[in-house]
Amino acid sequence: MTDEAPKTLKSHGRLSISASLKPRDLMEEPFRVKGAWKAKIITLFPDAFPGVLGLSLTGKALDMGLWALETIDLRPFGIGKHLNVDDTPAGGGAGMVLRADVLDAALTKAAEGTSQDRLRWPIIYLSPRGRPFDQAMARRFSKADGLTMLCGRFEGVDQRLLDHHHIEEVSLGDFVLTGGEIAATALIDATVRLLPKVLGNQASTEEESFSHGLLEHPQYTRPAVWNDLAIPDVLQSGHHGEIAKWRQTQAEEITKTRRPDLWQAYLRRKS
Ligand code: SAH
Repeated sequence: MTDEAPKTLKSHGRLSISASLKPRDLMEEPFRVKGAWKAKIITLFPDAFPGVLGLSLTGKALDMGLWALETIDLRPFGIGKHLNVDDTPAGGGAGMVLRADVLDAALTKAAEGTSQDRLRWPIIYLSPRGRPFDQAMARRFSKADGLTMLCGRFEGVDQRLLDHHHIEEVSLGDFVLTGGEIAATALIDATVRLLPKVLGNQASTEEESFSHGLLEHPQYTRPAVWNDLAIPDVLQSGHHGEIAKWRQTQAEEITKTRRPDLWQAYLRRKS
C-alpha cells in the first residue's frame, strides 16, 4: 500500500485483499491522505466492513482519505480443497477453533507495509478475555500509525498464535458475541473519531464523557419547553461561568451515582 494520493476523490478508502496471486490493480488503490491512520482487519466476513463506519462522520472521513480500511479475508489462507480455517478443539469439546497456521499466514499478509514497533502499530485480537476497551485505549490507538485487528469466530483462536506474536487481547465488554467484527467496528469508530479533522469540532472530544474521567452532563436543545418540561434556567442564562459550573456539578453527580468506580478513580487522580 502506497501513501500516494490518486488523481480523483471518487475512490474511497476501502480495499479488500485476498490471497489471490493476481497483481493488484493500482488504479483501484483507494485515496488516502499521506500517513493517514489505517485499520487492517483479518476476518472471515469482509463484507461486514465498512458497515456503519461507512456512514456519517466516519464514512465521510473514510471517503476523504483521513483514515483507511483494509479487510483481509481469512478464507483464501485456508487449508486444502475446502480452504478450511478451523478444526476441532484439542482435548475435545464443542465448536471449532481457528487454526494458528492459517491465521499466521493472514497476519504475515497484514504485516506488509506496517511498523514492527507495536506502539506504532498494535496487533489486537478482539476477545471477551481481553482488557476492557476504554477511551484511554482509543486515544492510544489513535496516536499509532494504524492497527491490525483479528476477528475471531466459533470458539476463538489457537492460543499458540496469540502467544507467539504477543497479540494484545481487547474486549468490548463482559458479554459474548458470535464474532469479533462488531467489536472491531466499535473499536475503530471510537478511535477514528479522535483523529484530527474527523470530527468537525475537535473541542467536542475534549468535553465528552471519560475525557476528564467523568461522564458527561445532560444535554438539551430546542424547544425550550417540551411536554411541560423546561430546559434548566441556567443553560438559558447566557452566563458562561455559571453554565460551566452547573455542567461540572451535574457531571460529578451522574458519575458518583452511576459509576462509583470512575468516581473513585477521578478523586484519586485529583488528590
Ligand atoms: N469461546 C470464547 C468465545 C468465542 S466468541 C470464550 O468463551 O471466551 C467468538 C469470537 O467473537 C471471539 O473469538 C472474539 O473474536 C469475538 N468476541 C466475542 N465476544 C467478544 C467481546 N466481548 N469482545 C470482543 N470480541 C468478542
